[in-house]
This record gives sequence, C-alpha cells and structure tokens, in this order.
Amino acid sequence: MLNPPDEHNRRLLENVHPPGWVNPEPKDRYHLVVIGAGTAGLVTAAAAAGLGARVALVERHLMGGDCLNVGCVPSKAIIRAARAWYEARESRRLFGGPPAVEPGDFGAVMERMRRIRADLSPVDSVHRFRELGVDVFLGDGRFAGPSAVEIGGKRLEFRRAVIATGGRPDVPEIPGLGTAGYLTNETIFSLTALPPRLLVIGAGPVGCELAQAFARFGSQVTVIDRGEHALPREDADAAGVVERAMERDGVVFLRRASVIRVERSGGERLIVLPGANGEEPVRGDEILVAAGRVPNVEGLNLEAAGIGYDRTGVQVNDRLRTTTRRVYAAGDVCSRFQFTHAADALARIVVQNALFYGQARASRLIIPWTTYTSPEVAHVGMYEKDAGAAGLQVDTLTIPMHQVDRAVLDGETEGFLRLHFKKGSDRILGATLIAEHAGEMISEISLAMTAGLGLGRIGATIYPYPTQAEVFRKAADAWRRKKLTPIVKRMLKAFFNSFM
Ligand SMILES: Cc1cc2nc3c(=O)[nH]c(=O)nc-3n(C[C@H](O)[C@H](O)[C@H](O)COP(=O)(O)OP(=O)(O)OC[C@H]3O[C@@H](n4cnc5c(N)ncnc54)[C@H](O)[C@@H]3O)c2cc1C
Repeated sequence: MLNPPDEHNRRLLENVHPPGWVNPEPKDRYHLVVIGAGTAGLVTAAAAAGLGARVALVERHLMGGDCLNVGCVPSKAIIRAARAWYEARESRRLFGGPPAVEPGDFGAVMERMRRIRADLSPVDSVHRFRELGVDVFLGDGRFAGPSAVEIGGKRLEFRRAVIATGGRPDVPEIPGLGTAGYLTNETIFSLTALPPRLLVIGAGPVGCELAQAFARFGSQVTVIDRGEHALPREDADAAGVVERAMERDGVVFLRRASVIRVERSGGERLIVLPGANGEEPVRGDEILVAAGRVPNVEGLNLEAAGIGYDRTGVQVNDRLRTTTRRVYAAGDVCSRFQFTHAADALARIVVQNALFYGQARASRLIIPWTTYTSPEVAHVGMYEKDAGAAGLQVDTLTIPMHQVDRAVLDGETEGFLRLHFKKGSDRILGATLIAEHAGEMISEISLAMTAGLGLGRIGATIYPYPTQAEVFRKAADAWRRKKLTPIVKRMLKAFFNSFM
C-alpha cells in the first residue's frame, strides 16, 4: 500500500490505516458522520467529539489525507533538504565556506522524509481518534439517503453529516500519457532514486516547489506550462522573481506550451510539443503531472441525498451547508482555498454551524497562503485586480527586500513586499511578500487584517534590528511619507525656518 515497504512506512500505516483494523458496530444514530479523514475531517471529528457529540469518521485510504501522506508534510521535508544541499553547494561562492565535495544522497533525503512523516502520524491516527471517542470506519463512504451513510455494508444514521473528501491530482487528457506512465504527488514521494531528468507538467505551486527541490538535488528539470508565467495566481513580477531563482537552480521553463502527446521510447519518456519545425520532443526519465486538482465527489452517491455539486466540487453556501439541510462540507472538496490551514478553519465553522445552529461565515475568513519555493511567495487578502473588481480604490506600496539590512546580510535580497490599502486610509486590503522565509512573516499582516490594525499601528511597532520583518515597518514609513502632501511639507518647512 505504501512504497517502499520499509520500517517507516510500516509505522505510518500502523497509524493511518492499520492492516488488521476491524470497524466498530455502528451506534443507533450519530450526531455527526464525517466522510474523509484529511485535515477537514479530522478537525471536524475531533472538535465535535471533544464537545461531547457522538461522531463517526469514515476514511477510505489513509487517515491524515493528502497533507500528512502525500502533500504538505513530505513536500516540506524534501524542500528543507533541498535548501540544505543548495547551501552546502553554494557555501563556498556565497560565504567563503568549505567546498562541497561529496555528492548528496537522495535516498537518505527520502528516508528522512518517511521517518518524519511516520513520527508525525500518531496525531492523525485511528488509535488517537478512537481514544477521543470517535468511531473510525475504514472503507468507502457513500450516501444511502438524506440521513444515512453506507460503509462496507454498514449503515450510519446521522443528524448531521460533513463531506470532507478533499481532492486528487487533475490528470489532463494527453494522448500517450497513461501508457508512458507518470508520477503525481500521490506517487513521487515513493521514489528512492533521483530521476536524472524530470519533466514537470504544470507550473503552479506544487509543480514549482517540487521542480526546484529536484533541481537542487541534481535532476535536470524542465517545467512545461500553458500559461504566460509560473504561479498564475500571483502577480507576474512576483512569479518572475521565483522563475529567475528556479532558472538559476537549473530549471528550464517552457511557457505557453500545449502538449501534443507523450511517448515512451526505451527507458525515456518524451513530451512532444509544437516546435519551429513541426513537432519537438522534450526528453526525460520521469514525468510529474502537477496540473491542478479535482474534487473527490464521485462515488459518494450525492444524488441519493440531494446534494448539489459540479466540477469545482460540492456546492455550499457561506455557512458551508450543502443543498441538503443536514449535510455540510469543508476543505478542498468545496473551497477554492485549497490549503491545510483553510481546511482547518472551515472545519471549525462547520462544527459551529452544523451542531450549534451557528451563523459563522466562510467569507469572513482571512486566509493567507505560501508557495514554498526559494524565495517563498506568501499572500493574504486582495490582489489589485480583486480590489478593482470589488469597486475599491486602492493605494499600493512596494518595498524591495534589498532595502532591508537583514536581507542584505543574509544574502537574501530577492523579492519584495507589496501592500494594498484602501485609498485615503491605512486599512490593509492585501499583501504579497516574496522573501526567503515569507511564509513565517506573512502572519503579521494576517494578524493586522484580522484585528483591524492599519499601517499606522504597524509603523508604531518596534522591530528588533536587524530582522527581515523590518520590511513591514519600512512599508509603514513609506505610507507615512506619502501622507505628507505638498501643503503639509510647506507648513513644516515654515515651522522649522521659524527656529533659525
Ligand atoms: C504536493 C502538495 C503539497 C501541499 N502543500 C501544502 C502546504 O505546504 N500547505 C498547505 O496549507 N497546503 C498544502 N497542500 C494542500 C493540502 O494538502 C490540502 O489543502 C489539504 O490536504 C486539504 O484537506 P482536506 O481534508 O480537504 O482533504 P484531503 O487531505 O484530501 O483529505 C480527504 C480525505 O477523504 C478521503 N476520501 C475521499 N473520498 C472518500 C470516500 N468516499 N469515503 C471515505 N473517504 C474518502 C481521502 O482518502 C482523503 O484521505 C499541498 C497539497 C499537495 C498535493
């Protein structure tokens, strides 16, 4: 079930899908049945059980879902290793350090990842959830009507249910792709040997993070994408900073490229693109498909419960209720914010609204996100185009990281902070930060936005020197300077002249 079948993966499996697991006998009726034990399902089930509700949790594959098993956890573990390799290799050039002489050990990187993943897995395990009082059922869940879910011939009656079935990689219909064979995030973390040449289809966050990590390990990486630039959600200049950094790591981008077909020839895989002379193959050893995500809605028999859905997922209102009164949804299956922390936040809303007639609204959430390339790209709130679409007039400030002393000292001057705030006020509407540790820093702006603190309050905050977070104070100073209109400047000049 999990490859390679080593000690770490056996330990992981023992926690997230124990081979000998026997499902419990269903109780008469549950307050809450949760389908899917990824972040959204686990948070919902744990919170509801903690409050005293009778809860059943149904998982068909691995407890912990994508984040623990094939998403955030394994990807961030290998990205950390890739950064260490990069720093060792560049230490001579950048810092006069000792030269890196030995080649790295990719197998050891992957083993470290598997060990850490297994170490983290008890929190998401069937054992922990059983101890929390949750009835854990391993198997495929499907609706048997508007108030019952079926799993392995057992019927779970509910007062409320939550769909938290997440998503899976979207595999585009490219002729030959299936026969040639490809990797996705569901299989790439099972590799034990580094592919010498890796072809990546898709330049979104998953494609870019993994492309850069593999390039830093020494793969020759080519990223093929239909779009004008990588990270299509981000501003073009923000994406440009990341693209240039990745190119320096050896990644080749083929943009505005639509794949004609894929072929396999001996040990090689070829992605055939339109070229100057007709067709042009790009050669590699493995192909990673990172072309977006699709929601897991099939097989749930949603029709039996009258639950509306489409290709973007389960339809929910702002309170996360589906088209059926008793059924709610949370996480990637119903949200455009496909992040673990968003799944967690939506799950908390569902618990309030489903069990306590709460009125919490998803649209009130301020949800940041980070793409963990080097440098990282973190964002929260609106982009300028969103503000325009909402009819809001904005002022924008951009502070380059090379103006921040600590970034200069660290040799991490690429990137910038961009802040949008409401015209004529200091209210922050959105921010993009590109910096080596942008993900660690963006929470300051999320906090300010959540607590309604404007740039003025940020400017009144004292930052330790030298830190990269000083970029926020610099933005506040720039905002203050902008407030100095020509009239105010003239008045100040007159004031100071009066002392002379
Ligand atoms: C490579 C990669 C890296 C990522 N990195 C990050 C990151 O750094 N930070 C971040 O915030 N987010 C990251 N994400 C996104 C994050 O993993 C998801 O947003 C998060 O896992 C969503 O949680 P979820 O509970 O909605 O769904 P999932 O985690 O997908 O869980 C859904 C669960 O439902 C189960 N299921 C589906 N159908 C059924 C059924 N019929 N019956 C029973 N069980 C069912 C599935 O088996 C699965 O376990 C990453 C994603 C990927 C792919």
